[in-house]
Amino acid sequence: MRKDHAFVMRNGVEIPEIGFGTWQIPNKEAHDSVTMALKNGYTHIDTAYAYQNEENVGKAIREFDIPRDQVFVTSKLPSHIKNYEDTLTYFQETLDHLGMDYLDLFLIHAPWPWDDIGADCTEGNIQAWKAMEKLFKDGKIRTIGVSNFSVSDLQAIIDSCEIVPFVNQIPFYIGKFHEQKELLDFCEKHEILVEAYSPLATGEVLNSDEIKKLAEKYNRTPAQICIRYCLQKDTLPLPKSTHEGRIIENSKIDFEISEEDMNMLDDMEDVRKK
Ligand code: NDP
Repeated sequence: MRKDHAFVMRNGVEIPEIGFGTWQIPNKEAHDSVTMALKNGYTHIDTAYAYQNEENVGKAIREFDIPRDQVFVTSKLPSHIKNYEDTLTYFQETLDHLGMDYLDLFLIHAPWPWDDIGADCTEGNIQAWKAMEKLFKDGKIRTIGVSNFSVSDLQAIIDSCEIVPFVNQIPFYIGKFHEQKELLDFCEKHEILVEAYSPLATGEVLNSDEIKKLAEKYNRTPAQICIRYCLQKDTLPLPKSTHEGRIIENSKIDFEISEEDMNMLDDMEDVRKK
């Protein structure tokens, strides 16, 4: 469900419809970037233990003149943590880094460690998820979710645990539609909000001639077309930038792409696969 520039999750928690991504922003720059984002109206910040910038992300939010409950903060459990006790420990470390006493959303960063992509960690994911359920029930996290999970990874959690993830954060940008369609449909069926990470394909999609042409037609920039596309596919984009002009541009998405143009964008090839 959507409401006033937010998605509403199954338990009624509202999440602002565009989040500010912070991957690859070094800790020393994160304070400035997050402050720029907050100053320009972002109220949703996405970080992770693995980004090594939680300290300055948290500091920027705490120092900004905004009540904690007006900013939606997401962080992620490192992808190699696959047991109950360590999940609790790492969650507390994340809170300590951020200088906060709760999170709005905590995600299992990936179903497998980054140095062993594709490994079967089903049992470990279930144990980590049970710890996340405890933290959720204890009121330490408002919503819990996963990232980079496939249909079968999600199904394993659904079969063995009590709470269906509220969110799956996955790579999604123009060119990814057909590849992600089955997963999008599965998430829709289970009321799992899909967050679109790398909505600009980490910048790689912005040079596409088709997207540039469309941007001219709508009098917008290629980045705005990409972000609008994610929103119209009912996914929540998480654009990242360290430049204030772009941070502003990426938040001004008050236009509509026609159905015909959406169909054309759905059928575009993934730039990263060319
Ligand atoms: P994006 O797809 O958001 O693209 C960011 C790149 O595009 C940067 O190089 C940025 O440069 C550039 N850029 C941003 N805005 C503009 C603009 N308006 N015009 C031109 N260039 C622009 O990248 P990410 O891959 O970082 O993904 C976004 C976020 O998604 C991450 O920061 C992270 O929060 C999340 N993520 C999650 C993952 C997961 O496993 N869960 C994995 C990857 C990302 P510059 O900064 O110099 O402006």
